[in-house]
Amino acid sequence: MELGKEDLKQAVLWESGEDKKVRCKLCNWRCSIDDGKLGRCCVRRNMDGTLYSLNYDKVCSANPDPIEKKPLFHFQPGSQSFSIATMGCNFRCEFCQNWQISQAALEDGRIDGQAMRPEKIVEAAVRYDCKSIAYTYTEPTIFMELCNDCGRLAKERGLTNVFVSNGYMTREAIDFAGEWLNGINVDLKAFSEDYYTRLCKARLQPVLDTISYIASQTDIWLEVTTLLVPGENDSADELKKLADFIVTKAGPDVPWHISRFHPQYKYLDSAATPVSSLERAYDVGKAAGLHYVYFGNVPGAQSESTFCYKCGRMLIERVGYRIVANHIKDSCCPDCGTQIAGFEL
Ligand code: SF4
Repeated sequence: MELGKEDLKQAVLWESGEDKKVRCKLCNWRCSIDDGKLGRCCVRRNMDGTLYSLNYDKVCSANPDPIEKKPLFHFQPGSQSFSIATMGCNFRCEFCQNWQISQAALEDGRIDGQAMRPEKIVEAAVRYDCKSIAYTYTEPTIFMELCNDCGRLAKERGLTNVFVSNGYMTREAIDFAGEWLNGINVDLKAFSEDYYTRLCKARLQPVLDTISYIASQTDIWLEVTTLLVPGENDSADELKKLADFIVTKAGPDVPWHISRFHPQYKYLDSAATPVSSLERAYDVGKAAGLHYVYFGNVPGAQSESTFCYKCGRMLIERVGYRIVANHIKDSCCPDCGTQIAGFEL
């Protein structure tokens, strides 16, 4: 059944134009939407000259996860994060691992989920002994209204808020969320416009701008993830560009997660990333000057653990998403006293 305006949440961050058009300012598509039409993400509709969120009351995932699963390795390590999502996305990645929920609205107009008021989400987070709420699995920018209402309540209750994002949000959206957003993991999927255009139906430059802006203009704790897809973004030249960009624009303390690809969704003809490619990327990241480089999706690898970048002491020992030991004392290495960057380490 089609919902009326009275059932829907009015969107944030948009402006009116002529002839009842609206312009959405949440992500860098900056869609101009005619009356009655949807934005590119298919979860925001212009109804009579006003923009509405169609997924506000449609939570499709809600459960506690280790914060390490986001991945955020330098943010309240060892804690649980109550993780929520709604359907929809502003990207169309051919290898999306959550395509069943991210692409349904784009493919067949489905926005499934249950009404879960922000108060209930925050209560559930407290009940599960979570330290944070994570807006994740799909792109949080496109359910910003729910993030905002939840984020403010969570902050009042002493919880933190984190995003797992493709980095396509506008500066206006970052500033808007900055009042309650404490941490973010941004996907930097590749360092070529061709990759973003061909495989994600998106653009690289806005993602680079987001990473630079968050690192230089906000207090939001930042980590970056790159999924290494064999033959697409794992050449020596591209890895060096990725690592150099993170070092120079975000800083050497920003953790870089290099993650193993497995065939998914429409991208099925490739093998999983060889571990040797991850090892090469690790070496490139360290040679570029990054202090913290991690493997993702390789359970049991030593490169899941945190080491002091000065003296090499193991500081946080991880096995998968589980923390076996955390030796950090007052945010410093207990052996050489080097400050270890992060949020409530
Ligand atoms: S969130 Fe992005 S894709 Fe969706 S309507 Fe707004 S500008 Fe368009």
